[in-house]
Formats: sequence, structure tokens, C-alpha cells
Amino acid sequence: MSRVEALLSYSGIEQRLEVVQARIAAAAQRAKRSLDEVTLIAISKTHPAAAIKQLAQSGVTDVGENRVQEAEGKIAEVGRDTIRWHLVGHLQANKVRKAVKLFDVVHSIDSIDLAERFNRICDEEQRDQLEVLIQVELGGEASKSGVKEAELAALAKSMASLERLKLIGLMTLPPFFDDPNATRPYFAELRALRDKLAAEGLFGDGPGELSMGMTNDFEVAIEEGATMVRVGTAIFGART
Ligand SMILES: *Cc1c(COP(=O)(O)O)cnc(C)c1O
Repeated sequence: MSRVEALLSYSGIEQRLEVVQARIAAAAQRAKRSLDEVTLIAISKTHPAAAIKQLAQSGVTDVGENRVQEAEGKIAEVGRDTIRWHLVGHLQANKVRKAVKLFDVVHSIDSIDLAERFNRICDEEQRDQLEVLIQVELGGEASKSGVKEAELAALAKSMASLERLKLIGLMTLPPFFDDPNATRPYFAELRALRDKLAAEGLFGDGPGELSMGMTNDFEVAIEEGATMVRVGTAIFGART
């Protein structure tokens, strides 16, 4: 994409951000929740660093990418001072070291092997504590990543002994439905799982984050308790 094309295609980004923020506020109000319980994570995959910089100037503080490789150049260009970088996609074991160096929060822990690898590499890199979420697979779709509900509690408990990781919550990526209300049961289920683990003290002294809701269904997710919504298309426009 040329510079002119990039500028043109992202010309409405501030306005789209404002619309998303207004929709988040309205959803929070409907659910009688405080707006500062909900963090907007702008998902910038496939979009250039220039667009992320525009968002940062409009006050966006949290940005997510789903691939370590793609994120690397953008994080170098945008920097880490004003943005908290979230890794929201599944990753290969050989990308863990890079992820530890680049990201502030990892949403996609889905096995004890992966958690232990992160812990070991954080130790080697002398990274104090990495905030992580467990990705839970609720759709019953074998191809999706995420830990099965039946294995969640065991994974969360075994992670408690990994000193370099701080488990802060749960994430899910439910099956896609045209009707956003069809996703509601999945969000409610993740919330129930979060509440159970929180009651066992597995998120330290925090209540536990709920990373759920995307462009098509973030308002429903907020009504069901989301504390982190991951929104790409509604802010950046369609991915090509
Ligand atoms: C791409 C992506 C999103 C954002 O999707 P949109 O529908 O564009 O809002 C959120 N979460 C994950 C894990 C993603 O890969």
C-alpha cells in the first residue's frame, strides 16, 4: 500500500473509534456497569503502524495483534511507551521468546506446556512478571485453539506455581454467528467459569478479566461482563 492509499483508507479512523467508544459506553450503561471496567483493545492485524499511531493520538492505550511475526515491526515502529501490547492469537512454541520480548499481555495460553515454556523464557529473559489469560474453547470446534472447559481448572491451578506468570483472566473466541445474541450463552459461560476460578483465588486478589467480544458482538459481551473487548474491523475497516 502506498503512503497516499494508507492515509486515505484510514482517514475515518478517529470517527470510527468514537462510534465504537460510544457503543461501548451505551452497552455499559444498559448493563449498569461502570465504563472503566471495560478496556477497548484495538486489534490491528493486517493494518499498518501509521494507523495505530493515529489511534494512539486519539487516546487508545491498548492494541492487540494475533501474530508475533507481523507485530514485531509495528511494535518497533509505534513503540511501547504509550501502548500496552496484547497478543491475542495462538502461537507456536518457537515464537515464545519473541513474544516475551514484545508483548505486555498474552491472551492465548491454552496448555501447561505453553505456560511452562513462557515461564521458563521469562526467567531466562529476566522478565519480572508477564500478564497472561487462559484461552478457553467453548464452541466444541476441534480446530479452534483453547483449553477445553473440563481441563481449565487443572491448568489454572498448575499455573499458580509458575512464578513468572501472572494469571489475570480468561479469554474466548466463540464460533461466529450473524446474530450477535447467539453468542450470548458463550459469554455467560465464560463469565461463570471466571467466577468459579476467582472464588478459588486463582487470579490473585483481582476479580479476573474477561476478554471477549469482537466487532460483531462486543456490546453483547459487555452486557455479559466483558472487561476487555477486542475490536478490529469496526475501528480499522475491513481487512483485505
Ligand atoms: C481478529 C481478531 C479480533 C478482532 O476481530 P474483528 O471482528 O475484526 O473485530 C479479536 N480477537 C481475535 C483473537 C482476533 O484474531
